[in-house]
Amino acid sequence: MIANSLIENDRAHWIHPVASWRKHEDRGATVLQSGKGVFLTDIEGNTLLDGFAGLWCVNVGYGHDSIVDVATEQMRRLPYATGYFHFGSEPAIELATKLAERAPGDLNHVYFSLGGSDAVDSVVRLVRYYYNITKRPEKKHMIALERGYHGSSSTGSGLTAIPSFHAGFDVPTPMQHHIPCPYPYRTDYESDAELIAASVQHLKDKVAEIGADKVAAFFAEPVVGSGGVIVPPKGWLTAMQAACRELDILFITDEVITGFGRTGPLFAAEHEGLEPDFMTVAKGLTSGYAPMGALFMSDRIYQAIAEATPYGTPIGHGMTYSGHPVSAAVGLEVLRLYEEGGIIANGQKSGDYFATKLAGLLDHPLVGDVRSQGLLAGVELVTCKKDKTRPDAALDVPDRLAKIGYDNGLIFRAFGDGIVGFAPPLCITTDEVDLMMQRFERSLDDLL
Ligand code: PLP
Repeated sequence: MIANSLIENDRAHWIHPVASWRKHEDRGATVLQSGKGVFLTDIEGNTLLDGFAGLWCVNVGYGHDSIVDVATEQMRRLPYATGYFHFGSEPAIELATKLAERAPGDLNHVYFSLGGSDAVDSVVRLVRYYYNITKRPEKKHMIALERGYHGSSSTGSGLTAIPSFHAGFDVPTPMQHHIPCPYPYRTDYESDAELIAASVQHLKDKVAEIGADKVAAFFAEPVVGSGGVIVPPKGWLTAMQAACRELDILFITDEVITGFGRTGPLFAAEHEGLEPDFMTVAKGLTSGYAPMGALFMSDRIYQAIAEATPYGTPIGHGMTYSGHPVSAAVGLEVLRLYEEGGIIANGQKSGDYFATKLAGLLDHPLVGDVRSQGLLAGVELVTCKKDKTRPDAALDVPDRLAKIGYDNGLIFRAFGDGIVGFAPPLCITTDEVDLMMQRFERSLDDLL
């Protein structure tokens, strides 16, 4: 049995992110204690296959001693160095350099945040600053996708378009707008080309509605994650980037989930050779071993801001832990494991295998759609395949299926509207993919 006092203290004192407070008072937390590779052990001694890499972040998997060693060494030598006022530390400079070398297009400038929400928030502030300082202050409105998720900061939550992040929080603000997310499984368009053309038109219509001179930027996740792992048709991102250029608005990709090998290549932008004006990352940057996110800024924007700001005037955006040396040292080791340690290559191989296994799931009576890119996948459950009927709320898929999965030794993410998300660590072997799928199929059978 779990120490009762631990559970009681949790119920009494810890406000858990994105949880029902009253339900939490009833059920308390599932307390995880240790991890190795793709497996976790909870405080009751149960072993679970983590099909979600924590919160789509532990891309290298659990238990890498080399990461612990670099963090320990950095803490011993210099636990903290500010990035403020022209100070810096070796790991932060080295990490910024290596990231810039690998980033798409001319995203050569890196600002470090603590996670994804403040990376997005920092982009919003810097976009506003950019247009103000370059004397186009009317360009303030921002457009994102319905079902998109861009964090829960006071600004980013307005770009996010998931109802529970809006209700009661007074977002989105009047300068935040959304257009439909391209959703191949639930579209009436007959072809990918039509769906892409419709999406471009939605963007153009929204810009026209707001006023062509008033729109600053369009934000998109390359694969919508928390909104239900929705993979857009190939060519959609290229078309949206082209539309943004034509409309004179910034094209901003949020790779907080898709970055660092999650969809195959290091960045999802590589699938279509994108060249965004800004890009945000977090999660896989440190694989969850330490908190860190980042935004990448293009040469063009960086230079315009630098030149327009009077020499010696500080640009007032900063956080105490931006470029934290311990997180940066962790980020460097994680990057080494991705590349020299073969973890990205393994993720690509296992991702291909995973796609074949997912296709087999379509035979299950509850599975209406499967979609994936690399080791990021969505399985959409329906109660009638022909009509694509979503499971009734009474079936309580999110909670019941997650609990059944857990009892079968598997963690995945069961979203509302019957969608299940998978994002296992990229170190997963093909045998472990088989085990993950066996446990998932058993869980679906148990749900019936
Ligand atoms: N952007 C995307 C696409 C995300 O998926 C997330 C988190 O899941 C965020 C931003 C926010 O990141 P964080 O939770 O690290 O603040």
